[in-house]
Amino acid sequence: MVIEDILEGLKKKIEKNLPAGTTISNVEFEGPQLVVYTEEPRKFADNGNIVRTLAKNLRTRIVVRPDPKVLLAPEESIDLINQTVPEDSGVTNYDFAPDVGEVIIEAEKPGLVIGKHGETLREITKKVGWTPKVVRTPPIKSRTVKNIREFMKKNHADRKDILKTIGRKIHRECTSKDQWVRLTSLGGCREVGRSCFLLSTPESKIMIDCGVNVGSDDDMTPYLYIPEVQPLNQIDAVVITHAHLDHHGLVPLLYKYGYDGPIYCTHPTRDMMVLLELDFIDVAAKDGKLVPYESADVRNALKHSVVLEYEEVTDIAPDIKLTFHNAGHIIGSAISHFHIGDGLHNVVITGDFKYGPTRLFNPAVNKFPRVETVITESTYGASNSMQPALKDAEKNLQRIIKETIERQGVVLIPAFAVGRSQEVMIVIEEAIRKGIIDEIPVYLDGMIWEATAIHATYPEYLNNDLRRLIFQKGQNPFLSECFKPVDSNELRRNIIENPHPCVILSTSGMMSGGPVMEYFKAFAPGERNTLVFVGYQADGTMGRRIQKGWKEIPLSSGGKGSETVRMNMDVEIVDGFSGHSDRKQLMEFFKRMKPQPERVFTEHGDERSCIDLASSVHKRKKIETRALTNLETIRLV
Ligand SMILES: [Zn+2]
Ligand SMILES: [Zn+2]
Repeated sequence: MVIEDILEGLKKKIEKNLPAGTTISNVEFEGPQLVVYTEEPRKFADNGNIVRTLAKNLRTRIVVRPDPKVLLAPEESIDLINQTVPEDSGVTNYDFAPDVGEVIIEAEKPGLVIGKHGETLREITKKVGWTPKVVRTPPIKSRTVKNIREFMKKNHADRKDILKTIGRKIHRECTSKDQWVRLTSLGGCREVGRSCFLLSTPESKIMIDCGVNVGSDDDMTPYLYIPEVQPLNQIDAVVITHAHLDHHGLVPLLYKYGYDGPIYCTHPTRDMMVLLELDFIDVAAKDGKLVPYESADVRNALKHSVVLEYEEVTDIAPDIKLTFHNAGHIIGSAISHFHIGDGLHNVVITGDFKYGPTRLFNPAVNKFPRVETVITESTYGASNSMQPALKDAEKNLQRIIKETIERQGVVLIPAFAVGRSQEVMIVIEEAIRKGIIDEIPVYLDGMIWEATAIHATYPEYLNNDLRRLIFQKGQNPFLSECFKPVDSNELRRNIIENPHPCVILSTSGMMSGGPVMEYFKAFAPGERNTLVFVGYQADGTMGRRIQKGWKEIPLSSGGKGSETVRMNMDVEIVDGFSGHSDRKQLMEFFKRMKPQPERVFTEHGDERSCIDLASSVHKRKKIETRALTNLETIRLV
């Protein structure tokens, strides 16, 4: 059956399901959803159940779009919308997109514009005809969020075409009578870095993650040249678990070499991904390293992105449905659940996850409707990989800051931009708010402020406590006055030349470059200052050398030979802020998983951790387990 016939069939089915007197003019696929065009948007808005019933009957996601001729003029619409939404919803901008009949309402409190069960939105449609879409006004100005929103707006027409092509591909008819499912590992097995898997059936090929190993020049990319993945344009979809370079760093490269399908990820993952990829190629160019792709490839990838919410079941191929669940690792991180065939097989790919509470996120989800095969990360899978309790880590950090401040010193914390920085910020903000430490400035340098702005833009991805604080008490800890972004060289120089009691959080996390090195040079000789490590320091990095207790630190100064820094400042290591499950949490994750899986494969950890975890899960659960190696293909069905 050709796609036109499928659409015609759907149109007839919808018409049959509509209440008497309601008509539609056209139907079309747009990415994973079906768009229904109507000259009577008000009738659909009148009855909130129509769309829900349709979606349930057709087992697909449906949106209703007004026919352009029934839309009220924008100026008139703005007046009417203003009268409809509650005054304190803080609307900051309206944007009209006539080609899709949408008005994008930017508001400080999107919930109020939406109303209970979408009531206010339906009210708006009834009055003006346009379909309202609500986005949050970024509470901290983020260059990334602003640029991405403008880019998407500018490329609306292009995107419409892209989504139409993607949609028609997803909803093509299944042609094969065979039933099998295979998993190929392309990177990230018995190693950390370049995570990449391919899930294939006779109908479709799905790539999960496409990371870069930043720590290695030789094994930097996944095995993308093998016949299973080539040619790239035969891949149906790329699914990204979260915005860390070892999971998405090479996605733009796929587009450079011919892939032109969708990337599925959550909203924050999309924004964070763009920020990190642009920075990645920027840093590579500055260091004189190989730059694998251009910023144009990053933009092309962005144009193909399809964002999904947690728990939203979505068709991504004729025989595969994807659902994201919270992974508790970083903002927007997702455990991906694949439902294959009509109940044939269910695969869960965990990506990186934290099965335990953190300051920022709820613990990872481990309850699924069905699951047979699990592919799990194993970063701390070795039997001796225990992490101290978060509470102890926090107390430890607060004590170190307090003591340093009391002796008029500076606390320097090298940290990754995404995740740990915001975790540490929350701990410090609370300590200041509760008077545990004095009111001192907390400077944020490098990409930390940008990443924080993205956290503040998507508070619905944070844990219950933070959401309560932000939504009910109106206190967004990220907006606290103690945080000072270092947004100019002058300010940085000022901090360095006029040392005063303060905390400085700065990238890079392993002291392999970035603004943290300037602070380090300035503050290392001072005995009153403290350097605090809150994250893992890999072998060979500057951070690791300092942890080993080096007293004379040689630093290269831009090709002009080297200078030596005398190390007098205190060095402290605070463990326990990890975004990964430790060994105990990994075992607990499987113990409490519902339903129990039939087999578990391990990856994303050094060889020992992967093997150790696979063997322990086997002993405990008496199920098939295996530490995957790169380049193997396993038949699941
Ligand atoms: Zn990660
Ligand atoms: Zn990772």
